[in-house]
Amino acid sequence: MRAPSASSRYFEVRALIHGQHLHTICEEARCPNIAECWGRGTATFQILGDTCTRACRYCYVRSGRPEHPPDPLEPLRLAQTAAQMGLTHVVVTSVDRDDLTDKGAGHYAATIRALKRKLPSASVEVLTPDFLGYEEEALRIVLAERPEVFNHNIETVRRLHRRMRGAKASYDKALWLLERAKEVADYPVLSKSGIIVGLGETNGEVVETMHDLREHGVDVVTIGQYLQPSSKHVNIHRWVHPDEFRWFREQGEAMGFGSVFSGPLVRSSYRADEQRHAAATKRGAVAY
Ligand code: SF4
Repeated sequence: MRAPSASSRYFEVRALIHGQHLHTICEEARCPNIAECWGRGTATFQILGDTCTRACRYCYVRSGRPEHPPDPLEPLRLAQTAAQMGLTHVVVTSVDRDDLTDKGAGHYAATIRALKRKLPSASVEVLTPDFLGYEEEALRIVLAERPEVFNHNIETVRRLHRRMRGAKASYDKALWLLERAKEVADYPVLSKSGIIVGLGETNGEVVETMHDLREHGVDVVTIGQYLQPSSKHVNIHRWVHPDEFRWFREQGEAMGFGSVFSGPLVRSSYRADEQRHAAATKRGAVAY
């Protein structure tokens, strides 16, 4: 990856985001694409604070007990910043907030509302946690605000799910949430999910996971290489060759996904505007 360039929009984006005391998953998860994405003037906002109540073994986001309730002014600052950045597609994700009664669903809804008010022409993509124990109600709350894309990452294959994500997360629940989102939405929401490879899975298991996603109506899938964010995180099991990423894309294409983004540096929110466009226009699979 290239270092941030002064001739790109990187420093402008950073100043805007830091100036409004917002978090991004780009920084919190040490994403390798930050120079490119911020350089293009895009970023993925992380709402509900910087402390996650889960501790997935591959994720760099700080885990622990959040000290603060959701900041009621965060949705407004976020919408203001998105408008200043001139975003046409806004991606919002969050930490898990198992400590909140609504698991953060109300804050998601407030954020989507603020975005739709401030940036009525932009599309909104939410990359949500599993809303454990409050799933049905949370889906209703979030989808009532009509985000264009509902994204929930399955993250890894069935066999590794518990080992990587802990006992609270469930492979089947993730599939259920994705399917149920489409049933709950009273408009054609695009559903999306992501798989990390290099955690110990086989290529066959990745294809099985893609099948499971497709069977649950998922439109867009992303597949990318795991990079160990610190020595405390789970080791990289293998480097997946670009030819294998191409093969995943072909498999996904054959399954009928609207868009398959498959490549070493692909992340769930990587070029999310293009992923959405590819699926919405039925342009088919894309790979990097
Ligand atoms: S891929 Fe996503 S998380 Fe990474 S820098 Fe780009 S927008 Fe941020």
